[in-house]
Amino acid sequence: MVKVNDGFLKLENDYLFSDISRKVKEYKEKNKDKKVISLGIGDVSLPLTKNVIEAMQKAVNEMSKKETFRGYGIVQGYDFLIEKIISYDYEKRGIKLDKDEVFIGAGTKGDLAGMIELFSIDNTVALMNPVYPAYRDANIMLKRNKIIYLETSEENKFIPNLPNERADIIYLCSPNNPTGTVLNKEELTKWVKYAKENNSIIFYDSVYECFIEDEKIPHSIYEIEGAKDVAIEFRSYSKNAGFTGVRCSYTVVPKALEVFDDNKQKIDINALWRRRQSTKFGAASYITQRAAEAIYTEEGQKQIRQNIEYYKENARYIKSELKLLGYTVFGGENSPYIWLRTPNNMKSWEFFDILLNKAGVVGTPGVGFRRLRGRIF
Ligand SMILES: *Cc1c(COP(=O)(O)O)cnc(C)c1O
Repeated sequence: MVKVNDGFLKLENDYLFSDISRKVKEYKEKNKDKKVISLGIGDVSLPLTKNVIEAMQKAVNEMSKKETFRGYGIVQGYDFLIEKIISYDYEKRGIKLDKDEVFIGAGTKGDLAGMIELFSIDNTVALMNPVYPAYRDANIMLKRNKIIYLETSEENKFIPNLPNERADIIYLCSPNNPTGTVLNKEELTKWVKYAKENNSIIFYDSVYECFIEDEKIPHSIYEIEGAKDVAIEFRSYSKNAGFTGVRCSYTVVPKALEVFDDNKQKIDINALWRRRQSTKFGAASYITQRAAEAIYTEEGQKQIRQNIEYYKENARYIKSELKLLGYTVFGGENSPYIWLRTPNNMKSWEFFDILLNKAGVVGTPGVGFRRLRGRIF
């Protein structure tokens, strides 16, 4: 008899975005003359920048000629892109990386799901709560049952505390999706110290780092001393350059990572990841990597900044208006996300319905991001 991986059967149905679209469709049918402002799709809304489009067109052209055609790429990614990443995203912040520590991917979602495969399911994973739901689901699919939640709320300003029990793998997301909160240098130092003391590893998701404006907030976890021993960093072109449909990302896997086997021998995670990628990942396309490279010029940076500023301006506006209306609001600074407290402890779906029906605005119910308090799987 064929048996399925029952990790998949333990997943809860992913109804959030389909429920949202169903409700919006119903509203539109009933209110044909009304405009709907959608904040709830979890996608970018501006097209790719001119520089990116031109680079893609040029790369497509190269693919049409025998002399410049490219077939299978390199698992690691092309040097032309990796070199730009190192110089623009890291050296400018005083971080040194070797080229073989940066891996180009086809989206952080896949990079995160792949990376967790490298680690035994005996590990305990710690997740911020609320947070991007794919972290948890990728673990459930692997049948991990040791998951602990780092509860965040108004009380701790959505900044997670260190866990009371041992966590082997800690996912940190800053700026956070969905609360919009950021971890400052002090907070990150605390986590790096924890990871060093406990021989843990940190998955650092900084796909929203381009929204950070406060100079004191680190863009990379490697701005913290010693972080290369304990952290893997995930970055994407989805949110900074609108690549949600193009698909390009990168992962930094430092060779210094300190992971040991039972005999206290160091395991080379960087080599394991390369091995895993060469078997399971076909490399990001040449066209895509040329497109990503195009953001790393003065003009390329200027163009993506304009788009980022547009999202930031929206967030600022939404936040200030909500505050004027008396709402308790988080995020919206150093982040495109706004997280608000519903009035009188109203359920988030109920608030969603009111917002849609009274104002024609589509939000995202917070319940889609939060696990129930204390629930351990
Ligand atoms: C959007 C998002 C990602 C995934 O981005 P990709 O499009 O797969 O590169 C990863 N983490 C968080 C927190 C996100 O919001």
